[in-house]
Amino acid sequence: MTDSVSEEGSLVQEIDRALAKLFPINRSLTGEGNRQTFEMLREIIPLKTIEYPSGGKVYDWTVPDEWLIRDAYIKDKNGEKIIDFKHSNLHVSGYSSPVSTDITFAELAPHLHFLEDSPKAIPYRTHYYKRDWSFCVSKNQYDHLRRASGPLTVLIDSEFKPDGFMTVGELLIPGETDQEYLVSTYCCHPSMANDNLSGLLATTYLARELLRGECTKHSWRFIFVPETIGAIAYLYNNEEAMRHIQGGLVVTTCGGPGPMGFKETFLGDHIVDRAVRLAFRDRGVEPICYSFVPDGSDERQFSSPGFRIPTASVTKDKYYEYPEYHTSLDDLEFVNGQQIAESIELYRDVVAILDANWCPTSLVQNGEPQLGKRNLYPAVGGSVNQKGGNLDSEDGLNLDAMMWVLFLSDGQHDLLSIAERSGETFTDVMSAADQLKRASLLV
Ligand code: ZN
Repeated sequence: MTDSVSEEGSLVQEIDRALAKLFPINRSLTGEGNRQTFEMLREIIPLKTIEYPSGGKVYDWTVPDEWLIRDAYIKDKNGEKIIDFKHSNLHVSGYSSPVSTDITFAELAPHLHFLEDSPKAIPYRTHYYKRDWSFCVSKNQYDHLRRASGPLTVLIDSEFKPDGFMTVGELLIPGETDQEYLVSTYCCHPSMANDNLSGLLATTYLARELLRGECTKHSWRFIFVPETIGAIAYLYNNEEAMRHIQGGLVVTTCGGPGPMGFKETFLGDHIVDRAVRLAFRDRGVEPICYSFVPDGSDERQFSSPGFRIPTASVTKDKYYEYPEYHTSLDDLEFVNGQQIAESIELYRDVVAILDANWCPTSLVQNGEPQLGKRNLYPAVGGSVNQKGGNLDSEDGLNLDAMMWVLFLSDGQHDLLSIAERSGETFTDVMSAADQLKRASLLV
């Protein structure tokens, strides 16, 4: 039996296996954990990795030194490890400076983070842009440390490499046209499952579905970047291409047990918003709707004034909204392959709508075309639109969808707006338009 993450099986099984393999890895803005993560994802999709050198100026920011950590613990005076990085990589705040000292609890306390109301949860904290060090512990562990006989031995065996790199992943799927959409996720969180291992895996398997399908009409740019600094560095290094992106999706926190959500783009009615709403409508799912606010994830960078890429997110237990958020309780009990697969399905529908959308014009603008002589209308008249009558003709046409497509094929309505207006599913509208095009009635 192989333990490869790409071992064949159902999608849900594949995701569950990948979750188990990727969850323990210590990811951060930079470092070996990120490279290991990309290596595993490369077993699923042909991801290209790019290394941005530490110290590089990217707009108003600087690519940070590479951070590596070998070990960390807090021992009591008897040598018992009360806190051990090897048990949870959340125990050390990301980008903590090295430290090796014997101190009292009172001296240690300002370097401890815990959650008063959640006795078992280890919080997730970082020191990305100010050199400092701290430990994250559960409330129970905090109490243990407070009672422990001192002095306490504190070690963080970490290192900053000014000659290091920040790693990002990229997969470009070229389409028939150079019009392009963006799908982005972030790869900087250590052992937490919904934020954001779910996003990493949903993005990966979504990309694989696109690669396995027919050639896409639009080009699709998938990127995997450390949050904020990675997105900014990527924009800086791909400025020209990114200025021409039509719209985007930031895939994050989409694997929880709770209801699905939809964070709108900053425009609220962009084609990406409409595609997401339609995908939900066609599945009969009512998501929690979050209007755009300039917090959240990398939409803040992609939609910044210089780029203004309208970017939406589909979520399942959105960041900020679930009590396990940014704690050790965001784990593989909370997230599973089935839940991530549900989000992938929705994202896949959104991508399919955006990719297949086009704006038809009927070649018969004066009156309706005669469908019967083209075998596009039931040979037996009279039953159409009769209650209880069969609206579909013998070859499985959705006549209602076809009539809507013809009616709105004035060059002003794309398939998306025809589906919105008619109430027919996007799939039915698309099939009707295909049939009419084959019958030389649409261009
Ligand atoms: Zn986060």
